[in-house]
Formats: sequence, C-alpha cells, structure tokens
Amino acid sequence: MENDSKRLLSPDLRENPAEELTEQGLEKSLRPSFLDEYVGQKKIKENLSLFMQAARQRGDALDHVLLAGPPGLGKTTLAHIIAHEMGSQIHSVTGPNVEKKGDLAAILTNLQPRDVLFIDEIHRLQKMIEEVLYGAMEDFKLDLIIGQGPAARTLRIDLPKFTLVGATTRTGLLSSPLRDRFGVQLRLDFYPIEELEKIVHRSANLLGIRVDESGANEIAKRSRGTPRIANRLLKRVRDFAQVRTAVESGTPLVSRAVAQAALSLFEVDPRGLDMMDRKLLLTIIEKFDGGPVGIETLSSAIGEERDTLEDVYEPYLIQQGFLQRTPRGRMATRIAYEHLGKSWAEKSNGGQDSFF
Ligand code: ADP
Repeated sequence: MENDSKRLLSPDLRENPAEELTEQGLEKSLRPSFLDEYVGQKKIKENLSLFMQAARQRGDALDHVLLAGPPGLGKTTLAHIIAHEMGSQIHSVTGPNVEKKGDLAAILTNLQPRDVLFIDEIHRLQKMIEEVLYGAMEDFKLDLIIGQGPAARTLRIDLPKFTLVGATTRTGLLSSPLRDRFGVQLRLDFYPIEELEKIVHRSANLLGIRVDESGANEIAKRSRGTPRIANRLLKRVRDFAQVRTAVESGTPLVSRAVAQAALSLFEVDPRGLDMMDRKLLLTIIEKFDGGPVGIETLSSAIGEERDTLEDVYEPYLIQQGFLQRTPRGRMATRIAYEHLGKSWAEKSNGGQDSFF
C-alpha cells in the first residue's frame, strides 16, 4: 500500500483523498457535456446516439444502460452526457453508499420522467438493495413494506419511467438477474494514442496550457490508455514546465522534452508504467520466477488488495502484453522481462514458454 496513496497514475480518485477536491473540480471542468465532444469510443457513441434519438422521438425514457470498463475511461462522463442529451436531470449514487432500502426508495421516488439515475460501482450494491431495483427497472414499480410483524403490509408505488445507468469495472462481478435487466450493455476500451492526444489538446485548451504536438504525444503515450490519467499528467507536466523551464514571455510550452523530463521525474516510464506497475511485474519475476503465481499470493506479496490489482493495475498490463492471466495464476511475459531489463533466458525454465 505504501506507494498507492501517491500513485500519480491511479485512475481511481478515491485512492487519493487529499487530492480529491481539486481533482474532482478538474474533472468537472474538463468533462464533455455532449456526445460530439466525447473523444473516441466510436461504436459506443453510434449506438447511444441511435438509441437516444429513437427514445426522444417516442418521447420515452432511454432503456437502462450498463457501462463496463476500467476506471477513468469515461463512464461517469457518458452518464452525464446521456442526461444532457435527453434533456433530463441526473441523480448520482455509488453502489456501496446505498445502505438501506429506504435510501434507494427515497432516490427512486424523487425521479422525474426520463431522469437518469446513475449508480457507480453497481456491482457493489447489497443484494437486498439489488432486489428492490429489479421491480423498479422492469415494471417501474416499488414495493415498500409498511409496519412490522403481522401488521406489516406492502405498498406498491408507481415510479416514473427513468433510465438507470450503471457503471462497473467488471461485468463479471454483476449478478445475472441484474445484468439481464439492462437493455443496452456497452464496454469501454482503453483509448489509442491518437485519441488521447486529442483529449490532451482539448483539456490543454480548456485549462489554458500551451502544448505542442510532440508534448501531447508524449503525455498520451504515458497515460495507460486512460483519459483521466492523460488529464492528470497534463496538469503535472504543466506544473513542472512552469517551475523548471525558463520562460521569457508568457505561458510555458509543454514540448516532448519537457513532458519527458517531468514524467521521468514522476517515475512514469515511456510505456506509461509507474512504480506500482513495475513493482507488480518485478515481484512476479524476482520472487516467483516469472509465475504463474496466484492472485491472492501476489496480492499479499505486494501489499495491495486483490480487487485493486484486478480492477486498476492488471487490465492495462494485460492489454499491453506485459502480463498473462492463466488458470494457474499470473505470469510475466517476455515483453515484461525485456521492458524491465531482465534476462528472459535466465528464467529457471530457460524461457521455455516461448517455444510452446
Ligand atoms: P469513469 O467514470 O469511467 O471512471 P470519468 O467519466 O470520470 O471515468 O472520466 C474521467 C475524466 O476523463 C473525465 O473527467 C473527462 O474529463 C475525461 N474523459 C473521459 N472520457 C473522455 C472522452 N471520451 N473524451 C474526453 N474526455 C474524457
């Protein structure tokens, strides 16, 4: 855990409470409001745009939408965009914060027709709360139990037709009755460099930061495919540029050299890996001979929670080919060995895996 609270690349703001206020402010100011401003994720935008248009033409609420993907890829942003584009209000809650059935009932009965109810981390809802949602999502009815014991009776309340937008880091964590009630299910992928460059330019414009093509490219390359990280790195590089570069006139320019110098100072390497990513890979290589090592063992060796490893660190390392998830556990790949300057041939099985 020791590095985690300072993790510059952490896509999860909650891991960094000291920064939360300012970072949240930043997120708000940079968040696109309409689908046209939302960079990339072409298929998702096409689908959503079509479904929203159809719902608007019918004067109906959009079907319930499930958004899945690692933190920082734009799920919350999409939920806000849906509300904007549908001309409705958004009400946001986080799964674990809905503690009692009454909390959910209060939220549901306050909704207006076509409003968006956004539930982040929906996979972390308690089972009993989830069960209340079933009827609300399917029939727009809410069954409340009034009183206790033999005198208890059920009160059925009609709800307005609303759109539930659920966000989850992994669809696999959602129970199937809940998952099946989402008419639209979309999966967000890591962003390619070109799209992250666009996001860096867009944010730089909004924040009044001067960044050239090469500077945007360097930040994009080191952002782990994640817009939230791109925005955060941009801000840090700007701070660095402001303090470390001599500026004759006006705003400092973020060039490739400036971005490189800043990001190496912050220990974000050229492939976007930070201290924790390297620690994870080095632990597998040095302590477990490259793996396979079970996730629980790895989690205690690193001192990081299993969920965080699976949600935050692993997806990018797997997508980039540094890490393999096998039935016997996690393995560091040849790419990981080479990137970290370790000899693949000296693996105790002589790197045999590469031949089979
Ligand atoms: P998530 O809910 O998936 O964790 P967010 O929606 O909070 O992610 O996105 C984090 C930040 O990244 C947002 O504040 C926004 O500024 C930026 N962002 C995310 N996706 C995009 C995008 N497609 N285009 C532009 N900016 C984006």
